[in-house]
Amino acid sequence: PDTSSADIRRRFVEHFEAAGHTAVPSAPLLVDDPNLLFVNAGMVPFKPFFLGQETPPYQRAVSVQKCVRTPDIEDVGKTTRHGTFFEMCGNFSFGDYFKAGAIELAWDLITKPVADGGFGLEESRLYPSVYEDDPEAVELWKKITGVPDDRIARLGKSENYWSMGVPGPGGPCSEILYDRGPAYGADGDFGAEDRYLEIWNLVFMQDELSAVRSKVDFDIAGALPKQNIDTGMGLERVAFLLQGKDNMYEIDTMFPVIERAQELSGRRYGADPVDDVRFRVVADHVRSSMMLIGDGVTPGNESRGYVLRRLLRRAVRSMRLLGYEDRALPELFPVSRDRMAPGYPALTADWDRIAQVAFAEEDAFRSTLRAGTQIFDNAAVETKAAGATVLAGEQAFALHDTYGFPIDLTLEMAAENGLTVDEEGFRALMAEQRNRAKADAKSKKGQHADTSVYRGILDANGPTEWLAYETLTTESR
Ligand code: ATP
Ligand code: MG
Ligand code: MG
Ligand code: MG
Repeated sequence: PDTSSADIRRRFVEHFEAAGHTAVPSAPLLVDDPNLLFVNAGMVPFKPFFLGQETPPYQRAVSVQKCVRTPDIEDVGKTTRHGTFFEMCGNFSFGDYFKAGAIELAWDLITKPVADGGFGLEESRLYPSVYEDDPEAVELWKKITGVPDDRIARLGKSENYWSMGVPGPGGPCSEILYDRGPAYGADGDFGAEDRYLEIWNLVFMQDELSAVRSKVDFDIAGALPKQNIDTGMGLERVAFLLQGKDNMYEIDTMFPVIERAQELSGRRYGADPVDDVRFRVVADHVRSSMMLIGDGVTPGNESRGYVLRRLLRRAVRSMRLLGYEDRALPELFPVSRDRMAPGYPALTADWDRIAQVAFAEEDAFRSTLRAGTQIFDNAAVETKAAGATVLAGEQAFALHDTYGFPIDLTLEMAAENGLTVDEEGFRALMAEQRNRAKADAKSKKGQHADTSVYRGILDANGPTEWLAYETLTTESR
């Protein structure tokens, strides 16, 4: 059977069209929303309907939405399932069917045999999760799907209650987890998320929230006048299950980039766990940066442009760490384009512009690296001449601050020279600079959108990720 990503996408859309849903094309990654850097879920383009600001022209919709999630960047290649770019398949009900309909439609699609247009997943491997205070969902799962009570995971607010982080609609959700077996984690440990792989999230919008202080701390004012359904299924996750792969970076739309990176670097994917992460980062970041440029983002020092710059630089740097020092993107981008263009023909139409933006950024980064490498070499010679084995924090900081030289590259190159780096000293200098920037930013509060993304970057990376601080100059915390 055809298990290509294109075919999974097609089956998803056809399943819901057959159930009366209007197929809506993906919105661009950039939306006019002050709270978002990029579209990060299928529901984003439908927000005005969910918020009651606009009347939907249909009661049921289905889409496959391009998404970018910057906060997931540090997971890329380390988990089996996080891309900075991914496609979210979703079905939506605007005041039409509710919990029972959503459960039935989702279960039917994933368990229906492939020959009948479904995904043919084995029922015995599927675990629904519910919000712990949603007994109605438990009963519906049992009644509609026949799963026994002990296969229904009850999870708390942080996992299974959805809100937009602001007063407005909220509600419990149910997720469908697929058990990949003991090779990926312990029996019954739903925290082992590469074992109990979350493939689909069904959000039951039923509550009106009057205050949201955090993901787990909010006030429910009452019921929404109209109940809505918002779901999201990760296309890549289903694809790697159906294609029999270990992780999402090995699927049809992504693996050819890894293959090209193997040829270029002469290293083999699967030979070394550290290199494997680098290969996957390359495959992911090449794709996400290509999709972002395709939707009009250009590299810059803040906000969206900064995210793109960071993705491009990480792809280039990962290739360097794989031992490939020539221009890499002109070799890798066309491979990703050829896999993605069938779903997104604009990539082909717009290719010259996309290539020019990406390749110019790589060239600029290569000069940064060239400049920094010279300075680094001098610092290393001085350090050794002084009989020391630790590169000073000031030097690491100067490399970062003046040459935009990533600290992890400094660390790596120091190690190659038999040196360590005074990371603590480096971090102290970074913190000092950050505090200055923060004080500066106080007076210019609220100029930039989506501080949560910046916070995500900071949280995910901790204090040694140099690029995080560039964004903090615009952070108003
Ligand atoms: P996870 O817990 O694995 O990080 P999530 O709970 O953050 O996923 P949701 O916000 O519920 O994900 O999004 C709906 C669906 O989109 C998920 O069930 C998953 O299949 C898919 N998805 C979410 N984030 C990613 C990602 N970074 N890469 C690929 N697919 C994703
Ligand atoms: Mg997540
Ligand atoms: Mg989750
Ligand atoms: Mg989820």
